[in-house]
Formats: sequence, C-alpha cells, structure tokens
Amino acid sequence: MTDAQLFRATLFHTPANPFRQEGALRSYADGGLLIREGRIVASGNFDDVRRADVEAPVVDCRGGVLLPGLIDAHVHYPQLPIIGRLGRTLLDWLEQVALPEEARMAEARYAAACARRFVAALAAHGTTTALVFGAHFAAATASLFEAAGETGLRIISGLVLSDRFLPSALVQTVDRAYRDSTELIHRFHRQGRLLYAVTPRFALSTSDAMLEMCQTLLREHQDLRVQTHVNENADEIRMVAEQFPWAADYVSVYDRFGLTGPRAVFAHNVHTTDGELQLLASAGTAIAHCPTSNAALGSGIFPLRRHLDAGVAVALGTDVGGGTGPGMLKEGLQAYLMQRVAPDGVKLDAARLLYLCTLAGAEALGLASEIGSLCPGKSADFVYLRPPAGSALETVLQHATAPEDALAAIFTLGGAESVREVRVEGSIVHKLHSA
Ligand SMILES: [Zn+2]
Repeated sequence: MTDAQLFRATLFHTPANPFRQEGALRSYADGGLLIREGRIVASGNFDDVRRADVEAPVVDCRGGVLLPGLIDAHVHYPQLPIIGRLGRTLLDWLEQVALPEEARMAEARYAAACARRFVAALAAHGTTTALVFGAHFAAATASLFEAAGETGLRIISGLVLSDRFLPSALVQTVDRAYRDSTELIHRFHRQGRLLYAVTPRFALSTSDAMLEMCQTLLREHQDLRVQTHVNENADEIRMVAEQFPWAADYVSVYDRFGLTGPRAVFAHNVHTTDGELQLLASAGTAIAHCPTSNAALGSGIFPLRRHLDAGVAVALGTDVGGGTGPGMLKEGLQAYLMQRVAPDGVKLDAARLLYLCTLAGAEALGLASEIGSLCPGKSADFVYLRPPAGSALETVLQHATAPEDALAAIFTLGGAESVREVRVEGSIVHKLHSA
C-alpha cells in the first residue's frame, strides 16, 4: 500500500464518447481519485473511493477541480516564439513568419532552449500528452525528445520531412531524411513515454520519393505514428492537386503511400470532399481540428458535422504557432465558438469539449487504454485546476449549481493561471509557483 494518495476535489472526466453516448460525462462534486504507483486505482464519489483504501493519505484539493491530463493532437514546437503574428493566410504566414523561424532550429543551442520552453508551456497549460511536429533538423528534434524525457511529458514527435517547395535550409535529401529518421527512431521511440511519429510536413513539400520513404519507415519499425497536414487552405489544396495529378484528392496522396491508418493524425481537413471523409473513416485516420489556427489564418470553418456523420475520428490541437497559444481549454472554447456560428454547426456542450481535449486525443493516438480519462487502471495523468482568488472563474465556480455549468466555465475562463498542478503517471510535471 505504499505511495498511495487520495486526491479530494471536484472530478470531471468522459470515459465514453459523448457524441455517440448520452451521459458520457462523469462528474463528482465531492470526488476522490485514488492513485498508486502512478496508476489510477479508483475514482468517483469521495466516500466510495475512500472505502477502496482507508489508509491512503488524503490530498485535500477541495475548492479545485481535477481533470484528466489534456491531450494536444497537433502542435509545432519550433513555433512557440512566433505565436500571434496575425493578419496572414497560410502560405504567406509560412513564407514570412513560420519558415524563417524554423530555419533557426539549425542552431542546436537555440533549439534546445526552445524545446525546454515549449515542453514547459504545454505542462503549464495542463497538457500531459502531445503529438508534436519536431524540427527539420535531427539535432533540434532530438532536443525536444530530451526535454520531454527530462520533464516527463508524453511526447510523440518526429523529424519534419520536406524535399521541395520550402527554402533550401529546410529541405533534406530523401537519403538523409531516411538516415536521420532511423537514428531518431532508435534513440527515442518507445523510450519511457516517448513515441516516434513519421512527419512529412505536407504533400506540397514532399515528393513521391519522400512519401515512399515514409512508408518504408513504417514498414521497418513497429508502432510508429504518422502526422501531417491536409486540406487547410484553398490555395494549398490547388497546388497539391497540381503536384499530384494522378491523385483523386489530397487524402488520396497520403493513402497511396500507406500513410493513412489508425495510427495517423492529419491536421485541419477544413475543405474536404465526401470521398476523402469516407477514405479517412475506413482507414481509421483521425483529424486534429485546430480552431484557433483556422480562424487566425482565415483558413475556414471546420465541417465537424460532416466528419461526425462520416464516422471520422476528431481530436483537438492548438497548432501553435498558427494557433493562438498552447492552452487546450482555450482551444476547446474556440471550437465551441466556431461551431456556434457555423451554418451547420454541432452543439459542443461541456462534455463534448472535455472529450475532445482528452479521450478523443488518446483514441487518435492509439493510447486510449493508457490515458484520456480517470478510469481505474489508466495512468495517473491529471490536472488540478483552481482559479486565482478573486478571479472571474472563481466567482463563476462558486455560483455554479449544475456540474456542466462549472465545466463550461472552466473552458470559457480557464488558463494557465488556474492550472495549479499537473501530473503524469502520478509524478508532478508542473506546479504553479505563484499560487
Ligand atoms: Zn500545423
């Protein structure tokens, strides 16, 4: 019975998918979360959980809220320093803002500092797992894995691959990309909580030969993930069609090279055809919806209803730095707002927002048996939220009568200032010092 701890607070989690199931949200006003050796032993009403272990020391977090660790399904680590460069569309933003900054990752020391800050920023916002675009440089990508290994976050990432279209500093030969990827996979894949994702930047910047090489990596190594971009912006889509005249559509380019499948997560898919949605659904490929990025770059409104109707899995990503920050709560609010104004928008209540920020990400990454909810047996990855004294969120939580209202208020008003403590496998990965 050593090292058990019983946390007492209001608890929210979604053990099931609230888009498919009524009552998927579990809430416990006086909740208990019992953990032992990094695993969740029990969760529910405090008195019930107490009976599971009458001796475990109680960590009294009453007045605060526990959520499962948040999962960011799409984010770029080199882009933390360029958040908020507003007023551009995708291809201009890439050329003028993102790619010049990504070229700076050639300098190993700069990249290492950026990696540490990036991982810290995720944790400070309650993110415990993230699918991350690394850098175009192997050393810089290694820095991210090392920073994640030091702090304990679950990071799935990979060397960003491109062999055309981008500035020369950011392109690799296919041979070099293969060698560097293979070495990174051997060093980091399945080391502790780290996983490797084959990461072609997007079809526009990757030739047939590079995409074929991605397929080779998937054949040569077990359990790799795949991440890339798809159907973000109308100009991008038109140029991809010109580059791949044989392809029926954008998704088919990736499918031809075996890059769709249940371990693949594609970001955006804002402008998509019914045929593509069918292909994604049958392959089991998930889409990372990135609503702040889609709005900031004017990419468009995500057709969530069509994805759901087609049976395509959808998770949520911040897409820093096209997106407006590393906070998944804010991203959830933005998803809600965009659907609210979309002609065919889906109602995103608090349960659905929590699911999109937690279990949906775990499912997209093939990690749902390990993370994504507070169910017994899963890893003890969780966030302790407690708004600052005198804050608007504190006031709202004190007045909320229904649990859904409290949770919706957390999405509306919750930021890093309310994230008191974040744990992965029971170990603290972030603690708010100003509290
Ligand atoms: Zn992106």
